[in-house]
Amino acid sequence: MDSLNNIAEEVQNCHKCALAQGRTKTVPGTGADKSEIMFIGEGPGKEEDKQGLPFVGSAGKFLDELLTTINLSRSDVYIGNIVKCRPPQNRDPLPEEVNTCFPYLQKQIAVIKPKLIVLLGRHSMYQFLPENLKISQVHGQAFRRQGQVYLPLYHPAAALYHGSLRDTIINDFKKIPLILKKV
Ligand code: URA
Ligand code: SF4
Repeated sequence: MDSLNNIAEEVQNCHKCALAQGRTKTVPGTGADKSEIMFIGEGPGKEEDKQGLPFVGSAGKFLDELLTTINLSRSDVYIGNIVKCRPPQNRDPLPEEVNTCFPYLQKQIAVIKPKLIVLLGRHSMYQFLPENLKISQVHGQAFRRQGQVYLPLYHPAAALYHGSLRDTIINDFKKIPLILKKV
């Protein structure tokens, strides 16, 4: 049986895709294996690559603020990404890189068995929900697929660059406690 530590160790030793070449540190993800909520971003940025931790740059600071608004902190949740190594210049990960890395996330989900998976941004959303959805239309709306509940949200980085989305994300976050209660 996998543990989160074992999976993290596998990730740290992984050279299965081209992103291994440009990374400083891998970013396997952080949080307890009993977390009820998992937050899934796209991939590490510059600061994450430097520290080996997810969401520690400016988007991460905003994510921390958002968690505070619903009385949660980082230690209450699991935070991870679709790809565990930083794409060069923060480009989108290529489909091949995503497909190669995705089994690590699937194993993490199998260990944690979260009640709710929060999908941060459309790339994360497409990995779990059908490609024809538009994040502008479905953000803040919970979906159940094969017994697992998902909540797509705008990526917190989007709020940094598009001020008007800030209130939207804050409001969508407020739905999380009720969704959790209903699961
Ligand atoms: N953006 C992401 O999608 N993931 C991180 O870990 C940091 C920023
Ligand atoms: Fe391995 Fe994922 Fe890093 Fe690619 S991105 S090298 S698959 S851990």
